[in-house]
Amino acid sequence: MRLFTVGPVMMYPEILEKSGEQLPYFRTSEFSEMMLESESMVKELMGAAKDSKVAFLTASGTGAMEASVAGFFTSDDRLLVIVGGGFGKRFSEICDVRGIEHDDVVLPFGKRLDASDLEPFGGREYAGMLVNIDETSTGQLYDVRILSEFCRRKGMYLVVDAISSFLADPLDMDADGIDAVIVSSQKALSLAPGLSLVVMSRRIHDERLMKVDSHLYYLDLKHHLKDQERGQTPFTPAVGTLIELNRMLHMVCDMGLEAKIARTAELAAYFRKGAKEMGLRIPGYPLSNAVTPVLFDGDAYDVFEKLRNEHGITVTPSGGDLRGRLLRVGHIGNLSEEDYDALFEALRKVLPARS
Ligand SMILES: *Cc1c(COP(=O)(O)O)cnc(C)c1O
Repeated sequence: MRLFTVGPVMMYPEILEKSGEQLPYFRTSEFSEMMLESESMVKELMGAAKDSKVAFLTASGTGAMEASVAGFFTSDDRLLVIVGGGFGKRFSEICDVRGIEHDDVVLPFGKRLDASDLEPFGGREYAGMLVNIDETSTGQLYDVRILSEFCRRKGMYLVVDAISSFLADPLDMDADGIDAVIVSSQKALSLAPGLSLVVMSRRIHDERLMKVDSHLYYLDLKHHLKDQERGQTPFTPAVGTLIELNRMLHMVCDMGLEAKIARTAELAAYFRKGAKEMGLRIPGYPLSNAVTPVLFDGDAYDVFEKLRNEHGITVTPSGGDLRGRLLRVGHIGNLSEEDYDALFEALRKVLPARS
């Protein structure tokens, strides 16, 4: 089985080895120590200040998106949401459900985000901006400096969903002026799904989280942070995935964050070069290292099915309007050049002859 998906992804043998082990009881000092250690590794990898906070949620990434919107903002606020695809739309829908007014910066498919796209919103007041820094549905990587500059100028909090971008693209909370970052286990962390993290700056924690009533129980970030002070969680967490997370964080720290990102970039470049040589079309907007979108003329889903059924290779199909037009090839997880060579070979068999 070869997965070029964006979660779950191919897992590393060091992690798979752990998944087979008996789970321990977790209300123990050993577990707490591990959690505190994970917290400090996460902060380091994210360029987060020492006094930032990390909440570990047993929920998929969307749970952390919802917990963040509910924890930082209320129906008295107005938000600006970057909607360049399915995940931006999700933030927008979360605002709707919470009764939070919002304006959406809508980018039609193929359009790159420029500073001028924000200009029409410059005259209005917003409490914060919500953005999926890699809009995974299209693979566009937004320029965080454009967004943080806008937020800084207007005194807005910047909340970044870096779920597919973390460990694949450079991101530095402090340097990039980000107030909260959302991460999930099944993307570049290459773990089982079901665990997500919210990293918060002291500023958004003190000025927002502590003052806002989230009207949430299970996903209340305040409660999670309170317990994380002693390395615990309010409810039974995904114990096994947290143990695997600790191991993965060690692996990334040992390798070095820059080397980890560089390796992902190298795989992305390897695929993009080969894809172009084959005559595949890749959109021109800036791309995350996590995933490469490939354009088709209506047969994208058929190619996905043939690769899967005839070659045991799974790329990432697209939904909605893009179902026939776009496949996405992932570069996160335990992949190597050899895997891409196998993909190219399969693609040559599956694709109708192209001149
Ligand atoms: C994967 C992903 C999510 C989370 O999706 P879940 O299925 O809830 O884990 C959110 N945002 C982005 C940008 C993603 O890539």
